[in-house]
Amino acid sequence: MELVPFDDRDGWIWLDGALVPWRDARLHVLTHGLHYASAVFEGERAYGGHIFRLRDHTERLIGSARIMGFELPWDAEAIDAACDAVLGANGLSDGYVRPIAWRGSEALAVSSRGTKVHMAIAAWEWPSYFGDRRMEGIRLGMAEWKRPSPETAPTLAKATGLYMTGTLSKQKAEAEGYADALMLDWRGRVAEATGANIFLVIDGEVHTPVPEGFLDGITRRSVMSLARRQQIKVVERPIEACEVERATEVFLAGTAAEVTPVREIAGRAFTPGRITETLLRGYDVLVRQEPAEVAKVVGA
Ligand code: PMP
Repeated sequence: MELVPFDDRDGWIWLDGALVPWRDARLHVLTHGLHYASAVFEGERAYGGHIFRLRDHTERLIGSARIMGFELPWDAEAIDAACDAVLGANGLSDGYVRPIAWRGSEALAVSSRGTKVHMAIAAWEWPSYFGDRRMEGIRLGMAEWKRPSPETAPTLAKATGLYMTGTLSKQKAEAEGYADALMLDWRGRVAEATGANIFLVIDGEVHTPVPEGFLDGITRRSVMSLARRQQIKVVERPIEACEVERATEVFLAGTAAEVTPVREIAGRAFTPGRITETLLRGYDVLVRQEPAEVAKVVGA
């Protein structure tokens, strides 16, 4: 499929409070967020016209901004409404929604003084990568970069700066023929992939690392709730890199990736199996339920 450049598409983008034609949603080159990574964002998916766990995403966006030292000029109600409006304006019922907030071009120095906070929301179609062949799983390489300690970077914010090493790791993995990379944390423990959390099935239980130096994904938490409801034991604990050897199944969880089985990590093979399939199907059903039903499941 030919990629249509992201700045040359039809549609509408919400920019600082109003829907503007897609091609007009532009920034000045002296934008603080571009130079100093003073930007936070979200990645959301809509299914059947509802953005899955929208309020959780919006609250994380507001929280990420606070970690980065700024307040969004819109409250959660206004942001939720804007996300829904963008989806509607672009005629999408299923799609990916990308809100982003950044410090603007009013001032440019390491200091953020004098800058204003801006926000945009775009939405586009983003079908599942793997379609019917999803259960075959993807191959992960090992990242050279480590997720930093929470003392080294604001690791709990979904901040653009944290994606610098994610993109470098993904680039290398793709150059080597892998779909993505497993990133370890600053202690050498299992952290996550470049844009999704990781789960290992060990002795019939689902193990996942404690989110200390990486994002506690909304999909991750949904999958943990689903597993518990299926009487599958979930163990959240520090996981040493060598423990990957003990896993029988491995999968990723993230808004874009949804539940994606992994069939290899740098030469070690896994066979996506019953637990991965149960959670993959369970997640596919959950995301299409009415928001009130979703809340019952994930609130459990
Ligand atoms: N880790 C990283 C680095 C991510 O970019 C994402 C996607 N937002 C996740 C984990 C998963 O988070 P979520 O399930 O909230 O999309």
